[in-house]
Amino acid sequence: MKNIIFIAPPAAGKGTQSNMLKEKYGYVHISVGDLLRKEVALETASGKAVKNIIDSGELVADDLVFAILEKHLRNIVGKPFILDGFPRTLNQAKTLDKFLNDYEVIYLDLAKEKAVKRMLNRLVCECGKSYNLGDETLKPKTEGFCDNCGKKLVKRDDDNAEIFAKRYDNFLTNIEPIKDYYKAKNKLHMIDVNRNINDIFEDISEIVAND
Ligand code: AMP
Repeated sequence: MKNIIFIAPPAAGKGTQSNMLKEKYGYVHISVGDLLRKEVALETASGKAVKNIIDSGELVADDLVFAILEKHLRNIVGKPFILDGFPRTLNQAKTLDKFLNDYEVIYLDLAKEKAVKRMLNRLVCECGKSYNLGDETLKPKTEGFCDNCGKKLVKRDDDNAEIFAKRYDNFLTNIEPIKDYYKAKNKLHMIDVNRNINDIFEDISEIVAND
């Protein structure tokens, strides 16, 4: 199985689709946002350096993100993985290519108004699973608690209208050169996510199965 790179605006469903792929195909799911939030929660030196940046909706410096990601990739050598939330700059995409070329890139395409709506309804668990109260298929079975581990669901600190707008704009600023870069390598697959999650998953599964 090829490795998968998800690029998408915030709240487009990268985490949800990653979890579905993980369950069906046994991928290791690497959410760079989750790795960074873990550093913050553990109050490591990196965590202290990135907390304000994440809370303000800006991007963490490439070097720091890459150092955290590299540490994690070393632990999963040989296993197929999904990279969710990386690369977010062209420099990150080029750096990744220095040691990885066996991958497909899936772009989840979602209009800003819809992304905002999803973000407002999003709840997350510290185990990495996320829920959406605006979608019957993505609500937790027990209101307010994670189906997977039973922990209390929370709203992300950066899931508010003002910070979200900044995150979305950052995404728009950086994404075109990244898309062009992967298009030129024949690795880019565009997926419209203004649809039912199972239909989206079917299209993504086809890309995975064709590898
Ligand atoms: P996410 O959970 O993917 O929405 O990411 C949450 C936040 O973590 C982002 O708004 C950024 O501040 C930071 N972040 C995540 N991935 C990256 C990345 N590849 N490069 C820089 N910052 C990142």
